[in-house]
Amino acid sequence: MRQITSDMALYCPACQRLYDPRDRLFGCPGADTGAHILTKQWADTFDRQKAETSIRRNWVDGVTDSFALFHHLSATSHMLGAGRYLQLLNTLQDRLRSSEGIPFQVTPLVQTPALAGAAGLKRGLWVKDETGNITGSHKGRHLMGSLLYLEGLRALNQKTARQVLAIYSCGNAALAASAVARAGGYELHAFVPDTVEKTVAQMLTDRGAVVEMIPRGASDGGDPCYLAFRRAIEEKKWVPFSCSGNDNWSNIDGGETLGAEMAMQLRADGAEVSCLVIQVGGGALARAISQAWAALERLEISPHLPRIYVCQAAGSYPFVRAYYLALAAIARYNTLDFNWDYERSGTPAAELERMRCFAEASPHQITALADFTCRHFEKDAVQSPLKEILRHSEQFMWPWDGPLPAGLAHGILDDLTYDWYYLLRSILKSGGQAVIVEEEKFQTAHRLAHEHTKINVSPTGCAGLAGLLKLIDTGTIAPTENVGLFFTGIGR
Ligand SMILES: [Zn+2]
Repeated sequence: MRQITSDMALYCPACQRLYDPRDRLFGCPGADTGAHILTKQWADTFDRQKAETSIRRNWVDGVTDSFALFHHLSATSHMLGAGRYLQLLNTLQDRLRSSEGIPFQVTPLVQTPALAGAAGLKRGLWVKDETGNITGSHKGRHLMGSLLYLEGLRALNQKTARQVLAIYSCGNAALAASAVARAGGYELHAFVPDTVEKTVAQMLTDRGAVVEMIPRGASDGGDPCYLAFRRAIEEKKWVPFSCSGNDNWSNIDGGETLGAEMAMQLRADGAEVSCLVIQVGGGALARAISQAWAALERLEISPHLPRIYVCQAAGSYPFVRAYYLALAAIARYNTLDFNWDYERSGTPAAELERMRCFAEASPHQITALADFTCRHFEKDAVQSPLKEILRHSEQFMWPWDGPLPAGLAHGILDDLTYDWYYLLRSILKSGGQAVIVEEEKFQTAHRLAHEHTKINVSPTGCAGLAGLLKLIDTGTIAPTENVGLFFTGIGR
């Protein structure tokens, strides 16, 4: 292995080794069992002072291009050098301005007293509004991170030919990918379910994407679109241009701009939130937000990481299951009370139902254990079980094997939470939780969002609000807390 000279390397916790981003890596090349998911790691040479000063100054100077504002947090910027990175960024932003009408820029953070009151909060509720972003969701930022990485690699390798890109998605991610790929001059194949909305399919075609319709019944286990996407990556050697961090770490690099923006906006308002509630499907959104916040905390720019709460729908909740399995492992290791564990001899549907009943019946026991993991996160009491989780990841995260997923917030009904491992760590460290939200709460959340804000948000886009309603109901979040949410997708 050549020496890694960048200030930011890629680290795989399963391989326990560093990789060089210049080696054109999207997923970890390690093939044995365990959670092989690349994440950025700052080298000793990473100049924290310079990064901190630059971010603060850019913010005060009113820089609105988030990718320029936070370029010190980007692995691609360190790989390429800031000068070349910013030049490349400007070129791509200009192309987006002409093709999509807008470049990527800081999106609004709105304080919503009426919605706070309707949700049962007595203090502040802040909503980050992504519905006006390119193609109407946060997904474009993630993929802009990937486009910058791809173009950064080309710049380092004498402008080698552009490769074919692939994405799997049920809508917004494919749409965002098509806009970003077009700006970069790349051919994109979008693997989408054959039930995809006609308007979305048309928007994909308009942007030059090749639409690959995949029937739902096309696999025995796991998302057929995802499996078709994986086959194309392996057999045709296409680039995984996806919002799943296990396949493509660089999408998290782009997604981090969202969390970083919110932290800076709150700081500018002189406000603080004690918790964030984030909707989880594939997990990239919540992972990217938590990581960005943690990075700004390390630079001493933003105050400590708020408690990270995530929610999934009762129709599909593989991440909540992984979270409960992790709590059970921590409880076992520390001989603490936790009256649930997964019975591998049982049927999946029965085990999922038993877990749901436990979650409803025992919020206090769950909160007590969440508090314990937060207090002892850096100690052996939590780190030792986490190492076991990493080694035996397949016993914690596996494709959804309950009833066929259905629900109003259909954009978060992923079969698998691809970005589960780092997200799990962030939640355990912060003292937040993962919760299952029943269907009627998504309907209420969507109604309240439209009644009390001017944001045209989709049911999936405001699914975090449904999680907040649930967490207030169970007394897990107190009415006196300040909360942050993300409205991530436009209503169509
Ligand atoms: Zn690995």
